Amino acid sequence: MPHSLYVPESALVIVAHPDDIEFSCAGTLARWVKAGARVGYVLCTSGEVGIAEPGMTRQRAAEIREAESREAAAVVGVADIAFLREPDGLLVATLELRKRLVREIRRFRPEVVVTGDPTIVWAGEDYINHPDHRAAATAALDATFPAAGQPNLFEELEEEGLKAHKPRKVYVTAWERGEVFVNISETIEVKIDALRAHKSQMRDWDPGDMIRTWAGEAAKGKEMAYAENFRVVTLVDDATWEKTKGRVESLPHG
Ligand SMILES: [Zn+2]
Repeated sequence: MPHSLYVPESALVIVAHPDDIEFSCAGTLARWVKAGARVGYVLCTSGEVGIAEPGMTRQRAAEIREAESREAAAVVGVADIAFLREPDGLLVATLELRKRLVREIRRFRPEVVVTGDPTIVWAGEDYINHPDHRAAATAALDATFPAAGQPNLFEELEEEGLKAHKPRKVYVTAWERGEVFVNISETIEVKIDALRAHKSQMRDWDPGDMIRTWAGEAAKGKEMAYAENFRVVTLVDDATWEKTKGRVESLPHG
């Protein structure tokens, strides 16, 4: 089955900030949820430096943005959100963060991990990709492969009942640099509604036109009205996945 039509049984999305999912891949996630997939979100930071209002504290902003994230997730049909509460604006792909993400992957046991592209620095002539986006993507990829699937790495997580897990595929949101285009024509309004839930970010601006423009450009020449674009990496082949569903046999210790 082409990657563009594939629906995983489960997907875990790992990003830096509360609105990153809604800007990048919520149309695809809504499509997967509609088809029965179990989807969870991991937000590395709670976006607490992202509300520039007089008197706003980081703590209050985090509360507002976590509530907006829950609302946005609910629009897509997602209830499982992990807030790691790493520092917004200062996210670094440390080994500690890698371990925290391995814990989330071993807990959720996703078929697919969705995250960003850590190599994207520039977009056009007017945007530098946020360093938190790059850090979250680096940590997510490093956690996904090979760490999550190595029983003798972070083996102390077994004490929490979390065994090694090898995700089948990684979907990297690719800003039109990827080869896979998922048709989101039926879910683009869900994506826009989810983004609207981030009221502290949208303020008086409605994101509908911009999202339709981006998704329309991504879909150009592909017999679909709206698309989201991914680079897809297959880590476990189909036959092995059917047998294991990500389970990894423990090696004898010592
Ligand atoms: Zn962001």
